[in-house]
Parts: sequence; C-alpha cells; structure tokens
Amino acid sequence: MALIFEFSKDNTKGYRLPKLDVQEVDISQYLDEYYREDLKFPEVSELEVIRHYTKLSQKNYAIDTTMVPLGSCTMKYNPRINEELANKEEFLSLHPFLPEDYAQGILRIMFELKEFLKELGGFADVSLQPAAGAHGEFLGLLMIAAYHRDKGNDHKTKILVPDSAHGTNPASASICGFEVITIKSDKNGQLDWEDFTRKLDDRVAGLMITNPNTLGIFEKRIKEIAQLLHQRDALLYMDGANFNAIVGMAKPGKWGVDVMHFNLHKTFSTPHGGGGPGSGPVGVSERLKPYIPVPQVEFDGKKYYLNWNIPKSVGKLLSFYGHVGVMIRALAYILSYGKEIDKIAKYAVLNARYLYHLLKDVLHDPYPNSPKMHEVVFSGLPLQKMGISVLDLAKALLDEGFYAPTIYFPLVVKEAIMIEPTETESPQTIEHFANTIKSILKESPETIKSKPEKTAVGRIKEAQANRNPIFKVSLA
Ligand SMILES: *Cc1c(COP(=O)(O)O)cnc(C)c1O
Repeated sequence: MALIFEFSKDNTKGYRLPKLDVQEVDISQYLDEYYREDLKFPEVSELEVIRHYTKLSQKNYAIDTTMVPLGSCTMKYNPRINEELANKEEFLSLHPFLPEDYAQGILRIMFELKEFLKELGGFADVSLQPAAGAHGEFLGLLMIAAYHRDKGNDHKTKILVPDSAHGTNPASASICGFEVITIKSDKNGQLDWEDFTRKLDDRVAGLMITNPNTLGIFEKRIKEIAQLLHQRDALLYMDGANFNAIVGMAKPGKWGVDVMHFNLHKTFSTPHGGGGPGSGPVGVSERLKPYIPVPQVEFDGKKYYLNWNIPKSVGKLLSFYGHVGVMIRALAYILSYGKEIDKIAKYAVLNARYLYHLLKDVLHDPYPNSPKMHEVVFSGLPLQKMGISVLDLAKALLDEGFYAPTIYFPLVVKEAIMIEPTETESPQTIEHFANTIKSILKESPETIKSKPEKTAVGRIKEAQANRNPIFKVSLA
C-alpha cells in the first residue's frame, strides 16, 4: 500500500485527502473456507471462563500494580477521579451531531482546556483535534507547509531533525513531503551547533526539536535556535512529549516556538500504552494561527460555538473534534493541581534526579556535564564487561515485578537504558527499583541471561519471534 499525498495549492479548500493505492482482494473465498470448518468450542462452565480471564488479566504489568519505568512514555498514575468524570453518563450519551445549543457543557470543557493549554504553552491558539502526539506532528508540519506555500516559499523543502529525536519526528516530516536532514548531537547531548548552523540554509522550512530532549537534557540554546531559524523564515517545531518536565515553569511560545504538540495522555494523564486513545493538541504562534484546523471551539461572551470560518485553515483532521474523553481527563488533572501545576515538573525532575543519583555508580552516564531533567538515559556499556546487555537487565526486571524500561533508544547512546520515574512514584518505590537493579547485577551472567522465569512467556529468540510470532500463552 502506498500513500500518495497531494498538497492543494488553493488553501481555502484545505488539505486534500491522501489517495489510497490499495489492491482489492476478493474475500468471499476465504469466508467460504472459514465457514465450512466445524467450529470447535470448548465445553467449559462460567466459573472456568471467569477464572481463565481473571488469571490472564493478572499476568498484565500495569501502572496500577507496578512502576512502569519506560522512558519517553511518561507512564504516570492516572487518578480515578479522571475516569469517573470522563465516564459520566452525561458525557457518554452526547452525540457529535448534537446542535451547539444542546452541547454547551462539552464545548465549554473543550474551550477551557484550550485556554489552559494556550496559557501553559504561551501560544496564540491551540487546536484540540489531533488524536495523538504523532498526529499533532503531522498537523504541525501541514501548517508549516501551508505557511510557506502561502508566502511563495516553494524552495523550502527541508526539515532539520536532531539524531536524538523520537522516530515519529522524521516520519511525520517525510509523510508531509519534506526532505529530512539529520543534525548531530554534541558531547553534552544537545544540538551540535556547528552542524546546525552549517545545514541551516535557505531551503530549510523548519526544525523539529524536543525540549527537554529524548536524552532528558534541556536544550539551553533554544531561544537562539528560534532566532536563527526566523532570520531565514524557517519555523520552529517543538515536540512537547516531555512537557511534564517544564509545565508551569516555562512557556515554549516565549522561546520562539511556532508550533508544539502536547501529549495529553502523557503530561496530563490518561491510561495509555495499549495503543490509545490519546490526544495531541497543537499550540501555535501568531505566524501559524491562520492555518489552524477547522472547526475551532470559540466563546462569543454568551455561547460556545464551533467556528468553521478560518479561510486559510489546513482543513479538518478527524471526522469529529478529537478524543473528547481524554480532554475531560486532562482538564480534571489540570484543575486538580490548580495554581500548583508546577509541582508536576518539580517532582518529575526531582524523581529522575534521585534515581540518577542512586544508579550513577552502576551504569554509565554518557553526558555527565548535562543535568538531568524528567528522565535519565544511561549507557549499559559497563554491563558488557560482566557479559550481559541492557536487554538482559530489562528482562530480569520482569521477574522482580517491574515493567521493563526503554532500551536501545535514543539511538545515539550505545546500549541505552532510559528511565522515567514520573512525578507520581514515591521515593520508596524509586529506591526499591534502584536496589532491584543493583541486586540483579550481583547475580551471575548465566542466571541473569536465563530470566525472566516467572512470567507467562520466558526468554524468546528475538529474531525468530519477530519473523514467526506465536501468540499462544499457556496458563500454568
Ligand atoms: C510519545 C512520543 C511521541 C509520539 O506521541 P504519540 O502520542 O505516541 O503519538 C513523539 N515524541 C516523543 C519524544 C514521544 O515521547
């Protein structure tokens, strides 16, 4: 299947849908075969079924039972009050085709969330439509493309992306038709200045940067980066997936960021990790405000309404207005912190630094001169001397009841192991996690390599499992 994107030259018509080049298949023959076979249902009682599924659910690793130390993903606790609110009958029974007069409550929630995000990010406007962070990146780049088309900047075809970036960044730039130019990281884990200024020519449409970046390090020269880009009429995209490190403390819009996505399901809590649903609102500077998607939720002093009259809008991103359930949770999370919302950032950073302090003598810090923000990236190279890899360590953690941390990302760190404790873990849990790693490392390499033994699925052959996946699990 190939995705072919066409950009409409006429901005008032918005963005044209991609043409899908899909081969048609006649499925009737498969269905015939399927129904000719006898269906073999097992003869079991209700009790046996209940036990089977309850046991299966207990095999799960979830934030409700254990710390999920995945870096980048911000797997924080999701307060139950959020769930209760999002699951209120009054919200669940709403229909997206309801006339505005009958949907004032939900429109107000969306409007207020939008206003909070504008304030927290320092932006001129925010669109709530994107269904996830990556979808927000897609929208941001569509708007950058629309801005340059509008100004006749047809020569601007390149997007700069640092080598530490999340894979979705180059993917989004490329799907929007841009050429991706990689910028190196320097010895402090920040944008390599020489490489950046050398590659910043007139054909650059923009730069996508994550701040703090995926190494958990703050890009100190962010304002200068924005200035240099703007001098060349190039725009600054910020990946806001790590916004929990700065929320309430700094406003990216004030640094000169033109467009940023928020990952509501990360920074403002919503269960995620199983593939959604998420929500990736996008904040924009005055430069990009004219291109924001329709419709925008507005308030005229009396009534909340959907504004479809945005002549240069890139169009609509979703069939309706975004993932409203995630928006309700996010607003609840923001309101529950109120004026103390900076506590999210303070505790997220404090927790990561505490964990760093506990582990810095057993793992290697590739960027010792850069203070850590909300997450820590170590290199597991010292483990190789013991005859084990970070993969072995991650697998062994499963036996100790922890979910495995992120490993082998970011790509710029050899044997990377990336941990984000988030603001919701207690010092005791962080100590327990660090002590568990230390005690695993005292075992013999053979023992470590044979783990996990307590999980439903033991050690698998990675390559073979990828080529020939078998999803059956025996419930012993
Ligand atoms: C999670 C993440 C994304 C993608 O966001 P989704 O909501 O998963 O689509 C992009 N960049 C970074 C740094 C992330 O951590």
